[in-house]
Amino acid sequence: MIKNIKDDVCYLTFDIFKDDPIVAVHSTRIGGVSEGHFEAMNLGFSRGDQRDHVLENYRRFTRCLDVPIEKLVLSSQYHHNTILDVNESHHGMGIFIERDYHDVDGLITDKVGLPLVTFYADCVPIYYYDPKRHVAGMTHAGWRGTASGIVKDMIEKMVKDGSDVKDIKAAIGPAVCKACYEVTGEVIDAMTYDFSEDYYDYYKEKDRYHIDLKGINKEILMMCGVDEKHIEVTDLCTKCHPELFFSHRRHGNDRGTQIGLMMLR
Ligand SMILES: [Zn+2]
Repeated sequence: MIKNIKDDVCYLTFDIFKDDPIVAVHSTRIGGVSEGHFEAMNLGFSRGDQRDHVLENYRRFTRCLDVPIEKLVLSSQYHHNTILDVNESHHGMGIFIERDYHDVDGLITDKVGLPLVTFYADCVPIYYYDPKRHVAGMTHAGWRGTASGIVKDMIEKMVKDGSDVKDIKAAIGPAVCKACYEVTGEVIDAMTYDFSEDYYDYYKEKDRYHIDLKGINKEILMMCGVDEKHIEVTDLCTKCHPELFFSHRRHGNDRGTQIGLMMLR
């Protein structure tokens, strides 16, 4: 990943999309106006922060990316696998007007200039781009979305819509790392496919597992036929880097929220 600073706002971009005509970024907590445990670039409206502070954060964030704030389309995440085809009718939904959709953890569009937004604080952000069809999408995957394969659903949807899987590029953004992510056997049992034992460690004395959600999502992308050369995985962990990220595992409910944003130019 590349760390960018513009007008005091720090945001992350991906090497793999460097030459593509798209915006594909992940926010950090640096450069906003929120205070207390929301300090500073909190982009979540639902956690108790002042609305005018969050809106100012969106203004600063979109201005430095040259993205039209009035057109933002925000997901409505419930750890399920629903993917919404986004078009002009969704302009401003989730930020300026009420959404006409709910329970949406994935967004996709072929419309130029239409920014998609998904939310994070440890879960895995996955960015998709087909340069041939000029289509961009994002999915949010916590352990439930990882276990039920939202990545697979997105790739299958893109292929059904006309993409050749060989063309698809994908990037996995900052998320909690294996060392920081301890779970019960319920999570392992929920996985609906076989994945390599490299992605989890079992600690017998506490009867807990540590799992690598980023690694598992990468493996699913490859199982779906995405070329490994077309996948970037950042090693940045949201819990290991409190100077950069809000983390649910580190901060609990007293925290702000990062976003992933994608837009076709
Ligand atoms: Zn970590």
